[in-house]
Amino acid sequence: MHLKTPLSKAISTTKHHLSKLENLGIENLGDFLRYFPRTYNDQSNLRKIIEIRTDDINVIKGTLSQIIEIKTKYGKKLIKAKLTDETGSVDIVWFNQQYLKRVLYNGQKIILSGRAKFELGKITLISPEFEASQKKQLHTARIVPVYHETDGLNSKWIREKINPLLKYSKTLFTEYLPAEILKKENLMSYHEALIEVHFPNSLEKLEKAKNRLAFDELFLLQLKAIQKKWLWQQVEPQNQKIIANHEITTNFINNELPFELTNAQKSALNEIIGDLEKKHPMSRLLQGDVGSGKTIVAGLAIMNTILNGYQSALMAPTEILAEQHYKTIFKLFKNKNFNIKFLSGSTKQSEKKELYSQIENGTVDLIIGTHALIQQGVKFNNLGLAVIDEQHRFGVEQRSKLKEQQNPNLLSMTATPIPRTLAMTVYGDQDLSIIDEMPKGRIPIITRIIPEKKRKDAYNWIKDRIKKGRQAFVICPLVDESDTLELKSVVSEYEYLQNEIFPELKLTFIHGKLKAQEKEKIMTDFKDHKYDLLVSTSVIEVGIDIPNASIILIEGAERFGLSQLHQFRGRVGRGEHQSYCFLFMQNYSQTAIQRLKAMVDHTSGFKLSEIDLELRGSGHIYGIRQSGIPDLKMASLSDSKTITTARKHAENLIENDPYLKNYPKLAEKISELEKMYIKD
Ligand code: ADP
Ligand code: MG
Repeated sequence: MHLKTPLSKAISTTKHHLSKLENLGIENLGDFLRYFPRTYNDQSNLRKIIEIRTDDINVIKGTLSQIIEIKTKYGKKLIKAKLTDETGSVDIVWFNQQYLKRVLYNGQKIILSGRAKFELGKITLISPEFEASQKKQLHTARIVPVYHETDGLNSKWIREKINPLLKYSKTLFTEYLPAEILKKENLMSYHEALIEVHFPNSLEKLEKAKNRLAFDELFLLQLKAIQKKWLWQQVEPQNQKIIANHEITTNFINNELPFELTNAQKSALNEIIGDLEKKHPMSRLLQGDVGSGKTIVAGLAIMNTILNGYQSALMAPTEILAEQHYKTIFKLFKNKNFNIKFLSGSTKQSEKKELYSQIENGTVDLIIGTHALIQQGVKFNNLGLAVIDEQHRFGVEQRSKLKEQQNPNLLSMTATPIPRTLAMTVYGDQDLSIIDEMPKGRIPIITRIIPEKKRKDAYNWIKDRIKKGRQAFVICPLVDESDTLELKSVVSEYEYLQNEIFPELKLTFIHGKLKAQEKEKIMTDFKDHKYDLLVSTSVIEVGIDIPNASIILIEGAERFGLSQLHQFRGRVGRGEHQSYCFLFMQNYSQTAIQRLKAMVDHTSGFKLSEIDLELRGSGHIYGIRQSGIPDLKMASLSDSKTITTARKHAENLIENDPYLKNYPKLAEKISELEKMYIKD
């Protein structure tokens, strides 16, 4: 037996069951043993018959007698019996389970667990679960594991199949964590944790087992990231290091910018410039809310790169966003003698050719564009800095494409801030800079939860604003999974609003099923004020400046995560007008209201994602799913204590033994993890 032994060889079962397991992703022994319970029923406290209660599950050990089958006058079949222990006896009844006649017998020592009814002065146990009394109970009289069940695979079946395999766990799972870490963190050994997590001997042991398994996940994830970062830093960049020109930078900031940098922008810039000056290439993530001014920080890093004679690239996820950057940065450097070019999928073929050769021979100082920048023909002469905007919109591989060529400094940017400990795990191979401060003079967006009875008033109010020249967004409720339903919901909302509510206004709609180009066309037209109101699903593009749009109305707001609501809200408030965000709800639960209140009270994306993490866990944080990390089974990304501890150990280890030469099993584990990473 080894971990890769196919399940068909490890357990005896039917093809049918094997294919059900396969649907759950369980193909071999290792997968099966790592199929952890979803939860537990604590049935470890046995009751005597004299202690039976009617308000609770009773777990009782005793002897069966007087088993009989009865047919009621309504034709129902019952099995009745008595259970006796040293304190007395109790009646039992099972409905419609005729097979029990063959399974149970008088004199059998058994454990029952179930509810009891008190009627006509008599207590009866109703259809209890049962298990023959034996040395190791699996289904009763213990902390009972409950697994995710699919039809035909219930927990009882899984327990019976996993239990006999656990005896192999010691030989199958040799310990791979360094002994010092096990000792320092007082961790249970892996194989013991595996046994305890399936069939816990006590709640304390279960807790320790879970801790161990959670630690492993967070440790391995970070170890891998830190090792990746270390390895990457060993590769000599093809270009000489950059030396910042502080005089020109300060002059530029003082004389060419129409505003003063915020303190947060200054410190982010210092961190980035500090990295550029290091021998090994930068790998840094710049996090900051929409409108916090990340572009100018990137711009100043680009300027220093060009002043050192190197090329820069700036890549954005959509054409319209890339174009917006091009315009901004072109204007920013109007007094500099920089050769700045734009490249996207829709650049003409002949122009592309010319651009390719200019990029290759080094005449282009800065190329701004879309995915087109990582296409085959693009060869840089001496790329010193690559900037990726809205980095979570790119796949893991697309992101690494830009650094493959010449191992340049890499600056990623995101407007979906997440708490620091979380970012450390998810983006562990990058350093973090955070802009947590908005430029002075921004008018905060007013956010309100609107009760249904005020809907008409809200529509009238919006109409009034639009007549004064503003524009508005309406976001449709989240539709589960199905694109077709989502499409229907956005079209019907659009028709309703256009025909019934705003007949005199110009409306349009956008959704995920449209091609990228169609989406861009709608966004550009909306930006050019060809429409007053845009109805959208959650696909609405990030990062686009439409300063004239000052109202966003979100339907079914309670169904979105706070960080995503915050993203939506960032579509407005980019101009000189007071902006508004109206939240409508479909289900008014206490917790939903509490969550949405956070939107009213807080304007910081960091704060909101922290609250989201606390209330709903990490699965709902916008940007996590896109980050490419594997699903965690035991660990929680909100467990910042374990994250931090695990990270310290991982850093320590890589510092002393970057190739894990002294820990071959750990090294092997890391390469396994590599395969689990979501590929795109
Ligand atoms: P984001 O972080 O969302 O990419 P941008 O870089 O697009 O934000 O900046 C948003 C707007 O704020 C731009 O118009 C930019 O010129 C302006 N801006 C940036 N920094 C400052 C500042 N320190 N003071 C005032 N306005 C600023
Ligand atoms: Mg931006």
